[in-house]
Amino acid sequence: MIPFNAPPVVGTEIEYMQSALGSGKLCGDGGFTRRCQLWMEQHFCSKKVLLTPSCTASLEMAALLLDIQPGDEVIMPSYTFVSTANAFVLRGATIVFVDIRPDTMNIDETKIEAAITDKTRAIVPVHYAGVACEMDTIMALAAKYNLFVVEDAAQGVMSSYKGRPLGSIGHIGCYSFHETKNYTAGGEGGATLINDAALVERAEIIREKGTNRSQFFRGQVDKYTWRDMGSSYLMSDLQAAYLWAQLEVADRINQQRLMLWQNYYNALLPLAEAGRIELPQVPANCGHNAHMFYIKLRDEADRSALINWLREAEILAVFHYIPLHTSPAGLKFGRFHGEDRYTTAESERLLRLPLFYNLSGIDQRSVINTLLSYFS
Ligand SMILES: *Cc1c(COP(=O)(O)O)cnc(C)c1O
Repeated sequence: MIPFNAPPVVGTEIEYMQSALGSGKLCGDGGFTRRCQLWMEQHFCSKKVLLTPSCTASLEMAALLLDIQPGDEVIMPSYTFVSTANAFVLRGATIVFVDIRPDTMNIDETKIEAAITDKTRAIVPVHYAGVACEMDTIMALAAKYNLFVVEDAAQGVMSSYKGRPLGSIGHIGCYSFHETKNYTAGGEGGATLINDAALVERAEIIREKGTNRSQFFRGQVDKYTWRDMGSSYLMSDLQAAYLWAQLEVADRINQQRLMLWQNYYNALLPLAEAGRIELPQVPANCGHNAHMFYIKLRDEADRSALINWLREAEILAVFHYIPLHTSPAGLKFGRFHGEDRYTTAESERLLRLPLFYNLSGIDQRSVINTLLSYFS
C-alpha cells in the first residue's frame, strides 16, 4: 500500500531525543526549544518565535494576544482547516468567510474589502499548499482599516512571498509541525511567530500560563507572578529535539519535496494540455515548499472514480476540506460574505496525491503510471 502521507524521518531524531533525555530537562523551553526558536528567528526573520504544542494552539494564542472579544468579526477563507476558525470562535468572534481564487485556492484578496465592517478586527490568510496569499494587498487593507493580520502558515514553512518567508509578514504567523506537514516535532507541534515587537512581551506571558516566568528565567525579574490571562502553550523539549533534527536539514527536505512535486508536474502536464485535468498554479512571486501536489478533475464524480481506481492499485489519494461555511458549526458561528463562486465548486474536484519526504522514486512512478492508465 502506498500511503497518502508518512511522517518525515531524517535519521538523527533518536540521537537528539536521547540527548534531550540525558539533559535532565524535558519540559518546555529547554536547549532544543531554544535552538529551534533561534534558528527560525534567523531563517524566517521574525522578532520572536515560540514553539507550541500545535498550530491550533498557536492560532488560539494569537486570538488571545489580539484580545478578540465577543461580537468581533474575523475574515478568513471557508476553504481551510477547522482550527483557523475555532481559535477565534473560542473568543466569541463571528467568522466572516470570503471566497477563494480558483488558481491558488487562497482567499481572494479582491473580495476582502467589501467584507470589512466596523466590527472587523483581523484578517486570517491561509497559505494553501504552501503557496502564498497576495500579502501586499492584504497588508495594505489591514493598514487602511487598522486590522491585525494572522497568517495561518501551517502549510507554509520554508515558502516565501516576494522573497519574504511566509509567517513573517503578518503581525503574527502560525506554523504546524504535525506529522502531515513538511517538518514535524514527532507527530504534533507548532510555532507562533511574533513579528510585531509590541506583541512579544505579552505573547510570552500568555504562553506561560499568564505569568512572567520567561522573564524570571532570563533573570530580568526576581520572582514571577500571575500577570494576565494565559494557558500552557509550550512544546516538550523531547519533541523539540525531534524537530531540531529536521530543521537542521530543512533545505534537504525542501529540495527533495520540490523534486517529487516537479516529477508529478512533468508527468501530468500532457493531461493538463489535453484539457483532461488542471494542475496547481504557483504565481511568479511565490516560492513554494511543495507541501502538497493536487490535481483538479472534471467534477466530483470524476474524482470519486479516480480515487477508487487508485485504491484498487493500493494507492491512497484523498480530497481535502469541506468548506466551513457549509458545516453545522460554520453555519452557527459564521457567515459567508458575497457569492460562493469557487469555494464549493473547486473543493469538490480537488484531489491530493501522495507526497512526503520518504516517498520512494519507485512508489511515485507507480502512482504516476496508475494515474496515466486511468486517463487512457
Ligand atoms: C494542519 C493545519 C492546521 C492545524 O495544525 P495542527 O498543528 O495540527 O494544530 C491549521 N491550519 C491549516 C491550514 C493546516 O493545514
